[in-house]
Amino acid sequence: MSTIRILAPTVANQIAAGEVVERPAAVIKELLENSLDAGARRVTVDFSRGGKAQMSVEDDGKGMTGDEALLSLERHATSKIQVAADLDRIATFGFRGEALPSIASVARFTMQTRPSSAPAGTEIAVNGGQLIHRRDHGMAPGTRIEITNLFHPVPARLKFLKSDETEAAHIVRLVRLYAIAHPEVGFLLREDGREIFRSPGDAPLLDRVREIWGRQVAEEVAIMPVFERPGLRLSGLLGKPGVSRGTRQDLVTVVNGRPVDSRTMAFALTESYHTLIPKGRYPLAFVFLEIDPRGST
Ligand code: ADP
Ligand code: MG
Repeated sequence: MSTIRILAPTVANQIAAGEVVERPAAVIKELLENSLDAGARRVTVDFSRGGKAQMSVEDDGKGMTGDEALLSLERHATSKIQVAADLDRIATFGFRGEALPSIASVARFTMQTRPSSAPAGTEIAVNGGQLIHRRDHGMAPGTRIEITNLFHPVPARLKFLKSDETEAAHIVRLVRLYAIAHPEVGFLLREDGREIFRSPGDAPLLDRVREIWGRQVAEEVAIMPVFERPGLRLSGLLGKPGVSRGTRQDLVTVVNGRPVDSRTMAFALTESYHTLIPKGRYPLAFVFLEIDPRGST
């Protein structure tokens, strides 16, 4: 007999996690976006075994009080919108208030956080959605969130994870994209404590490409002339004629600070090279489009 009932919060969160958290890189993405939304200037990302063993994101953003930290783990708890009308002017990455409770319901989750106004921070530990402890924690202002035992509370999902190498590649690509998209923020990415890259905050784009994407790529691109129209600005770096790739790996498009995988922009860029690169190959590009979110008429 079927009896209708409301799902327990942990179960609801684990179901929501099915959408929010498909793989380790998706966890890092949510944490990174929260750090950026919190106004971080420095972000450090660590992971090990493709994120399966451990992942952490540490920032120097605005932090949370102990009560806010506890609240942030409740479903639909967000500081970013209050009424539906706010949806028309969203400037933050997040707003649904689902990421933290979802992640905390499918892993072991430890958050340490401190706003600069408070003398000390708070540590909250959760395992599979169950609160383990909340205590004071001495730390500098900012937030650090560490995830271990990803998907251990929902073992069926463990088998969908790919090899450590594949999951690691997704993480590295994601952090590279966010680091390129956010010139005002310094990023440090480490795997097993070894530095993969460190992006200088506030450096010219070409220097950042060199640090984040590597020396070779930096030598293969040139600064493009800035293109401007009312409500629209296009700038960045383009591959030198003759340089091409078999994949879109080095074709990076950023719209209003968000790395986007835009087929339209990739197509437009590839077409622009016309005969300069062989058919079926892709150009290199780091292109930034700033466009008025209210649309232009
Ligand atoms: P959303 O980002 O959609 O609001 P999240 O579940 O990702 O939802 O986060 C919930 C809330 O927790 C955020 O609205 C924010 O107030 C707070 N928060 C999360 N991460 C951080 C962080 N790194 N620094 C400061 N506040 C944070
Ligand atoms: Mg968020």
